[in-house]
Amino acid sequence: MISEFEKQAEAFHQELSREYYLAEAGLKDELSITPIYDRYSHLFGENVVREFLTLTQDTRGRYLAEWVVLEYLENLVKGLTESVSNAMRQATVQWNGQQVAYPNLRPTISNEPDMARRHRLHELQREVTASANPERKSRFAILHDKARDLGFESYISLCDQLRRLELDSLANQMQFLLDETKDLFFEHLETFLHGIKVPRDQATTCDVWYLFRGRTFDALFPKEAMIPALTTTLAGMGIDMAQQENLELDIEPRPLKSSRAFCAPIRIPDEVKLVIKPIGGPDDYSSLFHEAGHAEHFLNVDPDLAFPFKRLGDNSVTEAYAFLFDHLPQNARWLHRILGSDRTSEFVRLAHFRKLWFLRRYSSKLLYELELHTELNGAQERYVSLLGDELGVAIPPEDYLMDVDDAFYCAQYLRAWIFEVQLRRFLENEFGAEWFTMFDAGAYLISLWTRGQELRPEELATEMGYEGLDAKYLVEELVSTLSDARD
Ligand SMILES: [Zn+2]
Repeated sequence: MISEFEKQAEAFHQELSREYYLAEAGLKDELSITPIYDRYSHLFGENVVREFLTLTQDTRGRYLAEWVVLEYLENLVKGLTESVSNAMRQATVQWNGQQVAYPNLRPTISNEPDMARRHRLHELQREVTASANPERKSRFAILHDKARDLGFESYISLCDQLRRLELDSLANQMQFLLDETKDLFFEHLETFLHGIKVPRDQATTCDVWYLFRGRTFDALFPKEAMIPALTTTLAGMGIDMAQQENLELDIEPRPLKSSRAFCAPIRIPDEVKLVIKPIGGPDDYSSLFHEAGHAEHFLNVDPDLAFPFKRLGDNSVTEAYAFLFDHLPQNARWLHRILGSDRTSEFVRLAHFRKLWFLRRYSSKLLYELELHTELNGAQERYVSLLGDELGVAIPPEDYLMDVDDAFYCAQYLRAWIFEVQLRRFLENEFGAEWFTMFDAGAYLISLWTRGQELRPEELATEMGYEGLDAKYLVEELVSTLSDARD
């Protein structure tokens, strides 16, 4: 029964990935997932779900059970998912006598050097975001109810048990990170905001987007050198991107194309798309490298692996490979070797601060989501206060639901950041500080990628000689890089 089910599940997964790809790449006006769910509805019947929940003794069954349950839930709210997604895709605002599409607002805001104009544009964006909040709230309310109907204590315990996220222990580790990095973070925040002429008491998240857009560093990251930088990096590890016929690189700036770069592994490993809409500067490089990390992972998966090990399992694994790559354009050795740039210390300092910002943002998001999924009412205030306390700038209340991915994806990002430092240390110890120029390092990474997501980060870390997943390396690195940058 399982193998026939897996075949169908893989076919469904491919159709769904293709639909998201077409809509997000701007090749289609509307996202239309309902017909796909309807065609495969036999995969997500409540009886199927209940049966899979009894088949969790082995890894393969557990990955399938997790997937079936989450797709069963999505099937119940797909109309709301579609409606919110299409409303946001089609919304526009008036700006300078022109209509600007909502998906283009974030890059426009990040590129706006004038604080007052940036804040005004951000307000317009927030109004649109808020217009879909009633639907987002109903959607979460349904997910919470249905999780309990399936016999779980809550939506939190459903996600925690099925995805094995160990949320309590993760939340403790992230609280430790927040405490250990607090003084350093606030000290640097003050300096960086001063550098872009934003008074701390007026600063909001959109000023941080502008800061991280790093326009003053554009000359370090020329647009035309971006793809060659990727192909040269891969070539250094013995990977010839031009020979990867299963990879399609899409860098065309279509109007409806999402401003968020993504990788669509439609058929693994035979059809993988890497989609990016370049806006210029360092952000483009990190987005391209992040998605290239995902793409190389999926392109190298053993085609004979069972579907659950090719595509399901713990996304912390693929996210760690993506982080390993997007870390390269902030590595002084890489900047020297690949881009031939030497005066990079100021940029590297900003990049380290940016990483700390993300870690603090996701750590506080995890703490917030644990509250949100316990009680939806009052969550908006908690979002603003919890994230505001840890990030030191005004947090837009309108974002309190939009800023939440389903099923604690934030926890998978955090697990990935923890694992990435362990993996990178391992590579540096085995192959040297310039591991990204070594064929042997490439061969080692391919040997990991071949295995898809069969193993969890804990298991991979143990194979590398660690005692499982350990945030101490990440915290150490964050503190030491920014302490060095003080002098
Ligand atoms: Zn990613």
